[in-house]
Amino acid sequence: MNKNILFALIIFLSSFACFAQNKVNSVRIWAAPEHTRVVFDLKKTPDFNYFSLKPSKPYGHRLVIDFKSTASAVKLAQVANKSKLIKAIRVSKPAQASHYRVVLDLVAALKAQVFALKPTKPYGHRLVIDLQTQAKKDVQVQSHSVIPENRDIIVAIDAGHGGEDPGSIGLRGTHEKKVALEISRRLYKLINKTPGMKAKMIRSGDYYINLHYRSEKARKLKADLLLSIHADAVFNRKPKGASVWILSTRRANSEIGRWLEQKEKHSDLLGGAAQAMGSTDSERYLARTLLDMSMDNSRTVSHGVASQIANHLARVTTMHKRRPVSASLAVLKSPDIPSVLIETGFISNPTEERLLNSPRHQKKLAQAIHKAVLSFYLAHPVPGTYLALGSSTKHHVRSGESLSVIAQRYGVSLTQLKKANRLKKNNLKIGQVLIIPRV
Ligand SMILES: [Zn+2]
Repeated sequence: MNKNILFALIIFLSSFACFAQNKVNSVRIWAAPEHTRVVFDLKKTPDFNYFSLKPSKPYGHRLVIDFKSTASAVKLAQVANKSKLIKAIRVSKPAQASHYRVVLDLVAALKAQVFALKPTKPYGHRLVIDLQTQAKKDVQVQSHSVIPENRDIIVAIDAGHGGEDPGSIGLRGTHEKKVALEISRRLYKLINKTPGMKAKMIRSGDYYINLHYRSEKARKLKADLLLSIHADAVFNRKPKGASVWILSTRRANSEIGRWLEQKEKHSDLLGGAAQAMGSTDSERYLARTLLDMSMDNSRTVSHGVASQIANHLARVTTMHKRRPVSASLAVLKSPDIPSVLIETGFISNPTEERLLNSPRHQKKLAQAIHKAVLSFYLAHPVPGTYLALGSSTKHHVRSGESLSVIAQRYGVSLTQLKKANRLKKNNLKIGQVLIIPRV
């Protein structure tokens, strides 16, 4: 090699290394029918500019993004692109040599929102471009900082009882209110770690909340789902297992009637709330909770979520009832939030009392409920939520598939995929649902 050329190359490379402080590590394109999200994973907070270009031959509508002092080794032509909005993604010559310019060739003039996101596990620094067809967007007035189309699924978690109401009490003196809160807290953490989901606690400590106010609070939180966590008790020590309850408008069948008759009072200490209801019976309590929690048009969701929860709980604990039980209550005001009441086990059964107190078992129960809720919403996405952004956000594991094959197919790293699904090992089960990390 000619010495001068070599010298020039060294100068070029060193200047490049000096200016290129940031780096694009990967690029992903997430396509939904009328929406596309492009994500750049970066080493640091991006310093960027962007602008639109109108068609001029041979190009059509374009969106240009300039990353300042940035390098990239990503081969854009190889980035999987199923978007109906982006014809191509390519590199172009930037105004300054140290910058990295990316051009999106678009099918039409699109509404674009470009913003940086800070690291939140399992993701690092990102630059996000949201593209939307103009036709759908009559919301021109919206602020750039607001992303109304994309929101989390909100799950309100109601730890049963609390404060002066201990709920059922086991032979060893375990209070239902304590177990319910501990399982609820574990569930809360799991949900909040899940991209696209947000958990809110109806009660976060050892205090009592009026039954009316529990559903009222869920409503105020704009919850998509209300989960009420309890533990069962009867005078007999033998009954064991978990059960899942939803509201039904059908008349109570005899089985439910029997169940309610056998059920011990959840508490003698309901205090004012119980008096207001005119009864301290556990079925009244349950009835009232359910009554306040559900509504006609949310029954389908309740039933779907409840079935998933029953299926997943069956993998980690004994079931008292294999399928969700509908408590049939004749008179209903229509509560508007899909609601499920989970009896996590019998605190009156000595073995289950011990289990319900064990952190390991509590964790298993919380994990099962979390998986159930997630798989329900992945299979039945709510429009306008992150979980509804394209089918590529979930993957059902088929025979012969490995984690690395799946990671490769979706253009994510093995580490990202494992983190997003909180997998410690590489083993997969057939039918297992994986979240494919997005941004
Ligand atoms: Zn209870």
